[in-house]
Amino acid sequence: MNGERETVSGIMSICGKGVLPYLLMFFLLISIGVSGETCVFRIYHYQRTIPPILLESGLDIASVKPGVYVDVVLDEDELDALLEKIPYFHIEKYETESELKQRLDSEYRTYPEIVTLLNNYEMNYSTICKLYDIGDAWEKTVGGSTYNANYESRDILMLKVSDNPGIDEEEPEILFIGVHHAREPISGEMVLYIINELLTGYGSNPDYTRWVDDYELYFIPVLNPDGFSVVLSGDNIWWRKNCRDNDGNKSYIASNDGVDLNRNYGWYWGGTGSSSNPYDEIYRGTGPFSEPEVLAIKKLANKHNFYISLSFHTYGEICPVPLRL
Ligand SMILES: [Zn+2]
Repeated sequence: MNGERETVSGIMSICGKGVLPYLLMFFLLISIGVSGETCVFRIYHYQRTIPPILLESGLDIASVKPGVYVDVVLDEDELDALLEKIPYFHIEKYETESELKQRLDSEYRTYPEIVTLLNNYEMNYSTICKLYDIGDAWEKTVGGSTYNANYESRDILMLKVSDNPGIDEEEPEILFIGVHHAREPISGEMVLYIINELLTGYGSNPDYTRWVDDYELYFIPVLNPDGFSVVLSGDNIWWRKNCRDNDGNKSYIASNDGVDLNRNYGWYWGGTGSSSNPYDEIYRGTGPFSEPEVLAIKKLANKHNFYISLSFHTYGEICPVPLRL
């Protein structure tokens, strides 16, 4: 999930000529919840941007509709404290964890299924795509299951779609990324959908054929495979960050661990909308590019000259772009 703050530390920093629309999607529905859960609360307001008091309060902002509302993820026990802090806002419960879990669509593909799918694409469309491993997710960097029995070793996979995919040609390069945030699975499905359209439509759809022939298109469906797996397994549907063991206790504690990958880029690292507190959902890490997932993007961007980078998030209905666009 995502707020306006997504824009501040995104991959603008590493895209020299960057045009950086963040496409956000609608994902949740209004409903009534039960007590004692983490819930989405909707805070109504009438300002064009997020009211500063909400931005500065360290809230986990899930979505924004400018001039209408801000959705925040909050434990019900924390609601009274929030109401004291912002007494002039109208707040409603929007969706509970149990309701959200019920709607975790089983059709979302898991990380292993995505790995298989990408390998099949490479095998079946070898003339127009090639699969690359651009780096390890955090759990793999510390030894996976030898560090923690619940951990695994996952790679960050990228599919290049272009004619002559094994050659770096003089063609405009475009990068697509899904699942910076673990709890935004449809952002990965968006990337997979585009891949499938291009591969299956090449040779019959004139636009797709031209794009594949004239551009070099790079797709990373899941930048955060560790966190993504936590969500799709149902272990913690609110998980947003990667799985870094912040407290170093070699166990998996939702309240303590993880870094917000979209707050870990170097551009304006440490700015408003991120947190220095490891226990916060918007924790930015110990320094720019401290996380292997984000470092993998930096290395990739240094090797290429991406003209456009598109990063998909959910579930606001906004498309933030760099100011210079
Ligand atoms: Zn996001």
